[in-house]
Amino acid sequence: MQQNNQEPCANPCNLCGSNDVSVLATLSRTGKPLRSVICNHCGLVWSDPFPHNLRSFYADDYRVAYKGTFTPKPKHILRAGKVALSRRKILADLLAKPLKILDVGTGGGEFAYLLQSLSHEVNGIEPNKGYAEFSRQEYGLNVQVGFIQDIDQPDQSFDLITIWHVLEHTENPYVVLTKLHALLKPQGILVVEVPTIEATCQSPKSTFHEAHVFNFNIDTLQKLGEKVGFTVQKHEVSPDGANITVFFQKSTAVTPSLQENDLKIPGNAKKIIDIVKNHTAGKHYLTAEPYRRFFCRMSRVINESIATANFTSGKQLLDRLYKPFC
Ligand SMILES: [Zn+2]
Repeated sequence: MQQNNQEPCANPCNLCGSNDVSVLATLSRTGKPLRSVICNHCGLVWSDPFPHNLRSFYADDYRVAYKGTFTPKPKHILRAGKVALSRRKILADLLAKPLKILDVGTGGGEFAYLLQSLSHEVNGIEPNKGYAEFSRQEYGLNVQVGFIQDIDQPDQSFDLITIWHVLEHTENPYVVLTKLHALLKPQGILVVEVPTIEATCQSPKSTFHEAHVFNFNIDTLQKLGEKVGFTVQKHEVSPDGANITVFFQKSTAVTPSLQENDLKIPGNAKKIIDIVKNHTAGKHYLTAEPYRRFFCRMSRVINESIATANFTSGKQLLDRLYKPFC
């Protein structure tokens, strides 16, 4: 690993604006060249330069590249339906009363359909045409095809916005969060979930991913929200340590805009570099985690083939799964 200061970078830090970076890695999880840099001032990590044209990639290629399909298969619907139920649990307090909700990056529509089944008014936006069309036809969802920056909704429209595992894929997370801030009603809540760069449950060679342009930890994600004008309500870390979820509130008070010095996070870059550097294959395969994950995956494959054996439609599958909760 190289840790040379003053490496050149194509894009300045999206959080603090600095150009002072160190190279954290040079390969992606597929073994292809992918230069990942870390800002020495705040600890934000990103692929520099960006590995592909993000707009055309997500509109057309992403689902095919990663899932081999333009519409979700039964096993993907089942898996996403179970994830949707776990998200409902995280949001339980918020969902106690009817809300107007925007789900950003709706995917196959499983989470948005759960919200709709719980009597909330739901809008979605999804760049992939095949998935967006599927979710509209299958579940009757109100999903716009496109990127959040281009959404056709007036400001102050929503009580709650959710954005699960999307922010790390975007070309400018600051611009995305700014847009979401505008779309929220005063005191509205934004829930952001991303993978954390501090995760060690996965194989070390899987840490850097062409599709994850930005890599956050809890400090950089919270600070980015504060830069936009949000107040941090709380955060959660998933039991396996892979994902972080932050609850932001759109505050009604006028908050002073953070200056360059306020956006620095002392010690954060060093902490992340140490975690990534110490997460080696030798140590990883001496823990129980890779073997636990392998057996979980095997049993999931078997359970999924049983659960989807009599599949007739995505709606029927999700209705059965969601029935105890709706
Ligand atoms: Zn920075």
